[in-house]
Amino acid sequence: MTNSLQTRHLCILGSTGSIGMSTLDVVRAHPEQFKVVALTAGQQIERLAQQCLEFKPAIAVLSSAEDAQSLSTLLQGKGSSTQVLYGQEGLITAVEDSDCDTVMAAIVGAAGLLPTLRAAQLGKRVLLANKEALVMSGDLFMNAVRKGGAELLPIDSEHNAIFQCLPPQFMSAKHTPSMKELLGVEEIWLTASGGPFRNTPLEDLASITPDQACAHPNWVMGRKISVDSATMMNKGLEVIEAHWLFDLPLEKIKVLIHPESVVHSMVRYRDGSVMAQLGQPDMRTPIAFGLAWPNRIHAGVAPLNLTQLSGLHFTEPELKRFPCLALAFAAAKQGGTSPTILNAANEIAVAAFLSGKLPYLRIAQVVEATLNHLESKQAQSIEDVLESDRKAREAATTYLIQA
Ligand code: NAD
Ligand code: MG
Repeated sequence: MTNSLQTRHLCILGSTGSIGMSTLDVVRAHPEQFKVVALTAGQQIERLAQQCLEFKPAIAVLSSAEDAQSLSTLLQGKGSSTQVLYGQEGLITAVEDSDCDTVMAAIVGAAGLLPTLRAAQLGKRVLLANKEALVMSGDLFMNAVRKGGAELLPIDSEHNAIFQCLPPQFMSAKHTPSMKELLGVEEIWLTASGGPFRNTPLEDLASITPDQACAHPNWVMGRKISVDSATMMNKGLEVIEAHWLFDLPLEKIKVLIHPESVVHSMVRYRDGSVMAQLGQPDMRTPIAFGLAWPNRIHAGVAPLNLTQLSGLHFTEPELKRFPCLALAFAAAKQGGTSPTILNAANEIAVAAFLSGKLPYLRIAQVVEATLNHLESKQAQSIEDVLESDRKAREAATTYLIQA
C-alpha cells in the first residue's frame, strides 16, 4: 500500500468534463499530495489549454489531430513543454507513458473503454466514473483488474457509498463464496433521485426538451448522464455496474427513489443492520475518497446539516414512467452482450435527443428496438465487445431515421 506521504501521479481521462473539473478542484487543494501528469479531453481546446498551463502535465490529449495541433501551437506559444497527442492511441499513451499511478476514468461513454481497460491491465489505481466502460465489458474488465493487480475504486456516488458501507474484507472475499457468505450482505439498495420528471404527468413527457431533461434537481453533471438520470437509464447502468463491481447477483441489487439525494446508497445485512453513507450531493466527496483512499482528505464540500433537511423519503420506481430502467433490468438479466447493446443504443438515442433530432419518449423505443434486433452473445474478447457496440450503434441509427 502507498504510504500517505507519497505523491500520487494522476492521469485524468476527461479532465474538461464535470467529473474531471471536480477532480482538479480537489487536487488543487492538495498540491503536495497529487501531481497531474496527463490530462485528456474530447474537443474542448481552450479549457484543456488552461488546465495544462495550470497543472503542467507531461501529456495532453484531444480527439482530433487538428485540435491537437492547435493546442500544441497555443501551449508552445506560452512556453509549455506539455506533449500533445490525439485520438484513442493518444489516450492509451497517456495511461502508459505519463508515469501515472492513478487514472481517473471520467470520459463519458464507450470512448473511455480502452484507456480505462489499459489502466486496469497495467495495475494502476483506477478511479471509475465512466460506468459505461464497465457496463459494456463486464467480466472482461473485472478480469483485467484482477490479472493486472489494479486497485479499482468506484467514483459513481452510489457505488462509492456501497464500497464505504461494505466491510473492508468484502472486496478481497468477493470471489471466495464461503468467505463472502460469512460477511452476511443480504442486499444493496441503490438510491436514485428520480430526476426532474419524477412527478411530471405522463402525458407531458412527450414534449420534454433537452434543457428540461438536463436540469437535474440535485446534481450538476454532464449532459449525457443528466438525460440518463431523467430516463433512469442511469440507474439501470448502475445496477449492472454494481453487479460487476461487487460481484453480487442481480436479485440482491434494489433501486429506491430518494428525491433528497442525501443517502447515497445502503447495504442491508443478515442481522438486520442497514449501513448507509450520507453526504451532500457533490461528486468531490467520492472523488476525494478515491484519490486519498484509505486516508481521508478535505474535499471542499460543506458539512451535511441534518437539522436543515425537510425529511428523507424512499419509494419504489414506477417502471411505466421509466421504461429505460425496465430495459436495463432485462438486458442485465439476459447477460452476454445485451448490456453492451443497451449502452450503445442509449448513447446513440441520447445524442440524437440532445441535438433535437429525437423526441424524449423515443429514447426508450430506440433502445428497445435495438435490443430486440440484435442477438446477445458471450463476448470472448474486447474485440467482440467493440464489434457488438459497433453493430448496436448502426442498428440504433437506423431506428432513429425511422422515428
Ligand atoms: P462530461 O460530458 O461533463 O465530460 C466528459 C469528458 O469526456 C469531457 O472531458 C469530454 O471532453 C470527454 N470526452 C467526451 N467524448 C469523448 C471522446 N469521444 N473521446 C475522448 N474524450 C471525450 O461528463 P461527466 O458528467 O463528467 O461524466 C463523465 C463520466 O462519469 C460518465 O461516464 C458519467 O456517467 C460518469 N459519472 C458522472 C457523474 C457526474 O456527477 N457528472 C456522476 C457519476 C458518474
Ligand atoms: Mg450515480
